[in-house]
Amino acid sequence: MATMLQQKSKSSGAANGGAIGLEFEMGAARIQVDDKRIINCRADLNQLVPFKYKWAWQKYLDACANHWMPNEINMSADLALWKDPEGLTEDERLIVKRSLGFFSTADSLVANNLVLAVYRHITNPECRQYLLRQAFEEALHTHGYQHVIESLGMDEAELFNMYREVPSVAKKTAWSLPYTQSLADPDFHTGTFENDQRLLRDLIAFYIVFEGIFFYVGFAQILSMGRRNKMTGTAEQFQYILRDESMHLNFGIDVINQIKIENPQLWTETFKQEAIAMIRSGVDLEYDYALDTMPRGILGLNAEMFKEYLQFIANRRCAQIGLQQQYPGAANPFPWMSEVMDLKKEKNFFETRVTEYQTGGTLNWDE
Ligand code: FE
Repeated sequence: MATMLQQKSKSSGAANGGAIGLEFEMGAARIQVDDKRIINCRADLNQLVPFKYKWAWQKYLDACANHWMPNEINMSADLALWKDPEGLTEDERLIVKRSLGFFSTADSLVANNLVLAVYRHITNPECRQYLLRQAFEEALHTHGYQHVIESLGMDEAELFNMYREVPSVAKKTAWSLPYTQSLADPDFHTGTFENDQRLLRDLIAFYIVFEGIFFYVGFAQILSMGRRNKMTGTAEQFQYILRDESMHLNFGIDVINQIKIENPQLWTETFKQEAIAMIRSGVDLEYDYALDTMPRGILGLNAEMFKEYLQFIANRRCAQIGLQQQYPGAANPFPWMSEVMDLKKEKNFFETRVTEYQTGGTLNWDE
């Protein structure tokens, strides 16, 4: 007779002990691929293999191959330019401050959502392996923004409080918060139609709208600055962050689509309309942010170009999760953005003369 060995998390209770992965049964049958499910899995969650979701494992490997550290990026040219009263225009300074103000807290919000909400409810070891990597990358991103703010000697309190004090920044954060709060409630469990839909809604909010739309105006602005040889260290940080982010987004799309495959009942017409409304409101909020950060044309960019760019992105996001595209004919005014996302680390986009970019914390710079 099999001996029962059970460890249960006090906070989880029996209903959620399996989802947390602290419960196993001595002598139970070995895990088979077909036992694995992306949500509501009752099988042992500590067995990475046999692989079922190979795309998740591959993304984990790809993410590790992209490893980088913010403090390895040379910020001295940025500091000289930032300190030089003639170095940047007031409009350019506004863009740098707003970007750092939004992102310095936004990636922390994403990390908290992942670790305190999403991770608990995604009941698959391959996906959790990627989520652990993603959580570390979010920490690196927060580190990266903090590194820029510190290197430039900026007012840290002003930057880190912008998401509560500057309306166009605060509105994006406020929009996303309700989507994480219920999932972070220890009494929230998936397993009912309503709660499974709630998880799916949170994933769409964070992966598709927050990381997939709210990041793009700021990224395009800073990367555009780097293309004009301004704030090249900051732009390089953003370049590596954007490369990570595009993988976070692709992982989120795969997770959402896998939940749909395994739980087709969740993808109702009403829910689809709700998802479309979320994406459309994301476009509107991000456009407000573009207007607020660039009241005048700058760097060969203007707010109208961002409107089309956001519509182009939103069409892609809709198509990626099987929704009807919302903005017919929207074209991409910034084709160079995809060039940055596809960048391999050995080819440096801004040619700031990194000769080696490898794991282990050492980096050689050309004199
Ligand atoms: Fe991210």
